Amino acid sequence: MEEPTGRLTPKKVAVVGGGLVGALNACYFAKRGFDVEVFETREDIRQAKVVKGRSINLALSHRGRQALKHVGMEDKIVSQGIPMHARMIHSPSGKQSPIPYGKKGQFILSVDRANLNKELLTEAETYPNMKMNFDHKLKDWSPETGLMTFTRLDGSHDQIQADLIVGCDGAFSAIRKQFLRRSRFNYSQTYIPHGYMELTMPPVNGEFAMKPNYLHIWPRNTFMMIALPNLDKTFTCTLFMPFDEFEKITTGDEVMEFFQEYFADTIPLIGVDALKRDYFRLPGLAMVSIKCSPYHIGDKCVLMGDAAHAVVPFYGQGMNAGFEDCIVFDEIMEQLNEDFSAVLPEYSRVRVPDDHAIADLAMYNYIEMRAHVNSKWFLFRKHLDNFLHFLLPNTIVPLYTMVTFTRTRYHKAVDRWQWQDKVINRGLLFGATGAVLGGSYLLIKNPPDINKLIIPTEKMWARLMSLWTS
Ligand code: FAD
Repeated sequence: MEEPTGRLTPKKVAVVGGGLVGALNACYFAKRGFDVEVFETREDIRQAKVVKGRSINLALSHRGRQALKHVGMEDKIVSQGIPMHARMIHSPSGKQSPIPYGKKGQFILSVDRANLNKELLTEAETYPNMKMNFDHKLKDWSPETGLMTFTRLDGSHDQIQADLIVGCDGAFSAIRKQFLRRSRFNYSQTYIPHGYMELTMPPVNGEFAMKPNYLHIWPRNTFMMIALPNLDKTFTCTLFMPFDEFEKITTGDEVMEFFQEYFADTIPLIGVDALKRDYFRLPGLAMVSIKCSPYHIGDKCVLMGDAAHAVVPFYGQGMNAGFEDCIVFDEIMEQLNEDFSAVLPEYSRVRVPDDHAIADLAMYNYIEMRAHVNSKWFLFRKHLDNFLHFLLPNTIVPLYTMVTFTRTRYHKAVDRWQWQDKVINRGLLFGATGAVLGGSYLLIKNPPDINKLIIPTEKMWARLMSLWTS
């Protein structure tokens, strides 16, 4: 635990939501010396037998690590994660090809969601100026007075007042409801047509069933499956597929036919019985992208994490962006002497464009992961971008690198990516034009012996065309 800074009359900060972002944020405010109370609907997950929630594991990258580092948690969480150095693409025939995430030594980490949440709650509790309130569901609150009403499982109510309310209560935020009633609050939400379903791949003879240091991907254009490793040597496989496709499969035999056609290499690894059973355990779960602005009301309330920006999970950035919210807010607190009336609007001004940019990028990656990775042009561009990054490390930086391995502001990363793309595509066009002109010149100057020319057959043309269009 780090020592809180001293304060004569500590202000009270209420963090609503003790999930990943709420628990981390509570540490940030406690470290600054505020009187912090966390209010969480669920019982204490450290005591719960079953922890309900979304994905079992998550990819942690640079932004999230930096945020953990600030409260002295990085090393502990990293030591409990599994490094993934590359994507491992599984073709329908079972061929596996790695595509590295970045330079040698760069990796993302597979971490257990429940464990991370427990560690953060335990860390938050080490601050003497912190109080945890589980089984407290926010029902209503007043932006004028900061008075909040919570309900408890036994039907009782609690009323608590705070100087600042930090809404970290996730994508379906109860705090955000008050924002929606106010003028000039922008809000949009989009459900994508895909749902997700998690399946477990057990260890084989006590070892991982596949290579562990990869994020495995089975891209199948309109749908895909991914798998992330866990410390217990299992993999959590997540199938992302349009809801109507999920619904078409209604029997165990249909599950097997589907897996046989698209993910045959996983059948012996997940197991026939497990597949037939687990496919029907839960329906496909929905994914939503939410954008809003501003993130604050006066000097009373601010939204962070999924409450402010739920993003689809295809860039592995939802939690990372939420963790980065905590650092950005903290940096602004430092600059503006913790004056909430100045800090909150500044936070909205700085953070909204970045969170909106990552929401858009996550939507873009929704297509890239399941479809583009199959394309030869995409693979060529990935290799070319990495090569150019190697030659000109400060001029050309691949988008994935900027997003995942740096703290470049998300919207700046998008601007730079678009600029780089233009430059590289123009370079390729000039290169290709130069090659054609140069080749034509040489052909005119040195006409070949017509008898020795290879005339492309119809089959060769078809192959060339397919390479060009794929
Ligand atoms: P949540 O985790 O939703 O926590 C909100 C908390 O608020 C919960 O504990 C909830 O019980 C509590 N709460 C809700 N309502 C109330 C109320 N009225 N009163 C009091 N408490 C309340 N992100 C990544 O960075 N990397 C990944 O690899 C990744 N993979 C993902 C895979 C999937 C399938 C999904 C769905 C998401 C993934 N994400 C990933 C995104 C990540 O899960 C979220 O961005 C992250 O959980 C957001 O944390 P949060 O604390 O803001 O919200």
